Amino acid sequence: MRHRERGFVEIPRQDPGYRPVAERTRDYQEVEQMLTEQQLNDQAARCMDCGIPFCQSAHSSVGCPVVNAIPEFNDQVYHGQWEEALELLQEGSSFPEFTGRICPAPCEASCVVGINREPVAIRQIELTIIENGFKRGYVKPRIPQKRYDKRVAVIGSGPAGLAAANRLNQAGLQVVVYERDLYPGGMLRYGIPDFKLEKWVVERRIDILQQEGIAFETGVEVGRDISYDYIRKRFDAILLAGGARQPRDLFVEGRELDGIEFAMDFLTQQNMRNGGEDVSGLAPITAEGKHVVVIGGGDTGSDCVGTSIRQGALKVMQFEIMPKPPEERPASTPWPEWPNKMRTSSSHLEGCQRRWSINTKRFEGVDGKVKRLHCCEVKWVFPEGAERPVPEEVEGSDFVVDADLVLLAMGFVGPGCKALLDDMGVALNGRGFISRHSGNATTAEGVFVAGDMTDGPSLVVRAMQDGKNAAFAIGAYLGVRVG
Ligand SMILES: Cc1cc2nc3c(=O)[nH]c(=O)nc-3n(C[C@H](O)[C@H](O)[C@H](O)COP(=O)(O)OP(=O)(O)OC[C@H]3O[C@@H](n4cnc5c(N)ncnc54)[C@H](O)[C@@H]3O)c2cc1C
Ligand code: SF4
Repeated sequence: MRHRERGFVEIPRQDPGYRPVAERTRDYQEVEQMLTEQQLNDQAARCMDCGIPFCQSAHSSVGCPVVNAIPEFNDQVYHGQWEEALELLQEGSSFPEFTGRICPAPCEASCVVGINREPVAIRQIELTIIENGFKRGYVKPRIPQKRYDKRVAVIGSGPAGLAAANRLNQAGLQVVVYERDLYPGGMLRYGIPDFKLEKWVVERRIDILQQEGIAFETGVEVGRDISYDYIRKRFDAILLAGGARQPRDLFVEGRELDGIEFAMDFLTQQNMRNGGEDVSGLAPITAEGKHVVVIGGGDTGSDCVGTSIRQGALKVMQFEIMPKPPEERPASTPWPEWPNKMRTSSSHLEGCQRRWSINTKRFEGVDGKVKRLHCCEVKWVFPEGAERPVPEEVEGSDFVVDADLVLLAMGFVGPGCKALLDDMGVALNGRGFISRHSGNATTAEGVFVAGDMTDGPSLVVRAMQDGKNAAFAIGAYLGVRVG
């Protein structure tokens, strides 16, 4: 065991790395490997136990959104106290096995060691604490000792709904989670591919939540299969945690051609196949033997790249309309803020051509099927008096690329269940998401909101924290202490 006081000087950061490309692109299993316990112990020894641990700051753009007690659990891991570390970790994060795998780790971007060295591998430490906890039998269902005669309906079983349901149930409230998909998990199950998060991880947690007393009604869309009136009469409070699944479209010539699909339709289908669900009723969307162009340079686009490669695409390109970010942290997002810099995912490393500052002007097809994209380069300019830059075509930069499958991964513009929301009387904000009246309360009495449905597309860790906050607000509304 190294001497801790100089750990950050003597020990370099170590990452577990990914499985080899040639191996991992033949399956859908998780690509990231895990560090050994000794390597983890060394990483924990790099933590400086700072006076002000920015990694766990609760500020919106700095540190861990669920305010994990990072220096404390690092110390426990350093001393081999895995069970104690798990107890502490679970106080902040309801589901560290999700964030330990797929969180972009804003904690690491705020780590003080990271000012002039590589930050502590916090996410890896978190992942090993929880996976050791499962392996050693420390993670057990915790059945609430007391039950109140108060009922809460949670609409949506993504990370926001699950985190809220967990806290409400632990406080002794009766919780029913309604989910329109066949299985619970939201984006964890149907958006994020298995190569980032295998679905047994989600199922393992749902199983525990069920044993703890949460009821799941799946394949039930509130507003279609059951009405708001039905819910309102049976529950004392309602949490809206329905996410943001309405995709942004690209309204250019040729959009109606076959072979132009929304990213989520493509990803959901592959997740369903991997999960053994029946997809025979769906028109198949596959990249096999095709030239694929992914429009949109974010996480969703990157997941389309990895999925296309696994399906056997001939070539995959990814276009982003924004300029290429810098390789290093720019001055505009100084430490300890989340840096606006270039990110390369495991999927990008598997064989994808990426281009930035690209606009798609039109799609060209043959016999009703897309065959080519007509694009141009853009530069971002500030028109006089404007607050935000706008894209301007670079003269003479037109180019054409072949494509038999185009995947639109340009973000999400709203919750997409307007009739239900009108029925409930909840107001929307200027961006088309559910407005917060105060905290997590909406404008409708007894109706609360959490996650992407109010914030717009965000992160699993933020949805989890918002679900936790919503549970506190619902507890206060019902006069029950939620811890
Ligand atoms: C492809 C993709 C990859 C991503 N990768 C990452 C990543 O690597 N790391 C990360 O941190 N974040 C990632 N994100 C973002 C993250 O998944 C979301 O921010 C997060 O899941 C939002 O959680 P949520 O609970 O608010 O909503 P969701 O996860 O969307 O869950 C909402 C649930 O509500 C259900 N629902 C909606 N309306 C109704 C209704 N009327 N009745 C019943 N059920 C309803 C939906 O079916 C859905 O299951 C990714 C997102 C996508 C799309
Ligand atoms: S949840 Fe994310 S930000 Fe928080 S400690 Fe884990 S990796 Fe870091």
